[in-house]
Amino acid sequence: MEVILGVLLFWLPCCILVAWIAGQKRRSRLGFFLLSALLSPIIGFLAVLAVPARVPPSPKVAARAMRKCPECAEAVLNEATKCKHCGSALSPVKPPGVLKSLLWGPVAER
Ligand SMILES: [Zn+2]
Repeated sequence: MEVILGVLLFWLPCCILVAWIAGQKRRSRLGFFLLSALLSPIIGFLAVLAVPARVPPSPKVAARAMRKCPECAEAVLNEATKCKHCGSALSPVKPPGVLKSLLWGPVAER
């Protein structure tokens, strides 16, 4: 009984540590916690070290996102109010919020 309790007292903090590291790398805390709890904290620790940190799209990248001019179909910046190719007036597009960009990915790739 004491062995099981000792393992649990060691196992659980290690799982929490792995989940914390995953959170620092913007990865799923719950996923890595469950991976560590079900398999082993060692496997969870190696997995969380192996995955690269998720980098949110920077505001600079979102601000430089392009769209198509409705008149000449050339690429113009989202915040442009006048097309640099044909000179037609454009309404500026607001950059997406953090949640929207996380759900749908960078605007430039669409
Ligand atoms: Zn144009």
